[in-house]
Amino acid sequence: MSKINPRPEVGRLSAYEAPEPAAEVNLAANENPENLPEPVLERIREIAASTAFNRYPDARTLELRKSLAETNGVRLENVIVGNGGDEILVHVCLAFGGMQRASLTFPPTFSMYEIISTSTGTVSSSVRRRADFCVDEDEALRAAAESDLVFLANPNNPTGTLESRETVERLASATKGLFVLDEAYCEFAGVTYLDLLDELENLLVLRTFSKAFSMAGLRVGYLIARPEVISELQKVRLPYNSNVFSQSAALAATQYKSLFDERIRAIVSERERVRQELEEVRGIEVLPSRANFLLLRVLERDAYEVWQRLLEQGVLVRNFTGDELLDRYLRVTIGLRTENDRFLAALGDALNRDSASSRQG
Ligand code: PMP
Repeated sequence: MSKINPRPEVGRLSAYEAPEPAAEVNLAANENPENLPEPVLERIREIAASTAFNRYPDARTLELRKSLAETNGVRLENVIVGNGGDEILVHVCLAFGGMQRASLTFPPTFSMYEIISTSTGTVSSSVRRRADFCVDEDEALRAAAESDLVFLANPNNPTGTLESRETVERLASATKGLFVLDEAYCEFAGVTYLDLLDELENLLVLRTFSKAFSMAGLRVGYLIARPEVISELQKVRLPYNSNVFSQSAALAATQYKSLFDERIRAIVSERERVRQELEEVRGIEVLPSRANFLLLRVLERDAYEVWQRLLEQGVLVRNFTGDELLDRYLRVTIGLRTENDRFLAALGDALNRDSASSRQG
């Protein structure tokens, strides 16, 4: 018998697949199309020039947490920082999930909820979204009452759907354990339900610097919750999970927040322009979105074939081949205007060509 013997639930998992192929125009990962603004880059250069890298970073991420607490109108004890939002999801599952505990997701949604649940031994269950991709509230309320952890992305990835405050309030109230409201894309919707924290002791609000704040490469996420929740998460966090660059860059970004506001507005207005253009395109259906991406349903043709033809023209979008709920869909991140125009032209071409070569293998 092999010595390499993973836990059975891990053995059955597939690794998260980040979109790999190189393309001139990458619209596959919901990143911000622009690098950090100059004052933040300047701060990172200063850190590079002046830091003693032989020393550990601040294990408590104190300055960054103070700044995040201030900008969000909460206290230091309400905030924890992670190496990306993903890592905080791991901490949540380690501290509050695990054996004999159940998590709940609303697919189609961010696949890491299920992967992290399973890899931490948490039993993952799901309530499928309705045809319009909103949460099926009646079913969700029933399932939440039996769940130790509920994960709701709002806006949702990859559908762009935003749930109402009342729905979130009802779902969180009905949840047996903790309700994780993942606001990774909230800046693009201009909507947050963070203030529900006053009335809901089981609410956890997750945020990231990867999208609106152009910092996917530096891996910074944070979570706001009651101090009783944060102190449990602190126990399972590795001591130096946030490095010096990440802490300083995120701190600078919170200090220069106004520089990002105009960029966020530009992405939202580009999203609406691209959506309107796509509404005129025959052969696809475009869904409304409150995030920095659009989900397209490919009618008649094979979505994978369209994806491949886009790639041949240098445009990478996200395909969901093999996904039970999204096999016919593609997700496109909103890029710079020129990138979006390239995507629109390439899509027109991909849809108009003869469908000679269908999916191989
Ligand atoms: N939540 C959602 C819904 C996401 O789409 C993502 C990134 N794709 C994350 C959380 C995690 O982002 P990060 O780890 O880069 O902070």
